[in-house]
Amino acid sequence: MQCPYCQSGRTRVIDTTHDSRGGVRRRRVCRECDQRFSTYERAILAAPLVTKADGTREEFEREKLARGIRIACAKRPVSAADIDRLVGEIESTLRRMGKAEVSSRIVGDLVIAGLKELDYIAYIRYAIVYLGLDDLQAIRDEIDRLLE
Ligand SMILES: [Zn+2]
Repeated sequence: MQCPYCQSGRTRVIDTTHDSRGGVRRRRVCRECDQRFSTYERAILAAPLVTKADGTREEFEREKLARGIRIACAKRPVSAADIDRLVGEIESTLRRMGKAEVSSRIVGDLVIAGLKELDYIAYIRYAIVYLGLDDLQAIRDEIDRLLE
């Protein structure tokens, strides 16, 4: 590890701690300038590819997901921070699955579950598109389920 003060490569670990999120923090000292600094190490999990109903695959795109959720939440009392948090939760859930691919249906289900907590109207809007609620009876059944 390079010293951030003098750029020397001669540094030494003086303490190692593991945190609850699986990361490792190391306290280091530079042998050249004697400065101390910490480094943090954690595993990087790639987000899985998203497979669509027609069999095509695409990269998980945080911004694309956020856009769909923002549209569902238009003019609803859902803050940008709420949307950002939901997107972040969905992304980390997908990463934790540790799979190379997940179906777009799973991503949709995570959005649906999150929106249900945030705002019923946004939830219904999203459900109409992503659950393919394409007739009034199916939409009405879903609303009835929410109202129960
Ligand atoms: Zn140094």
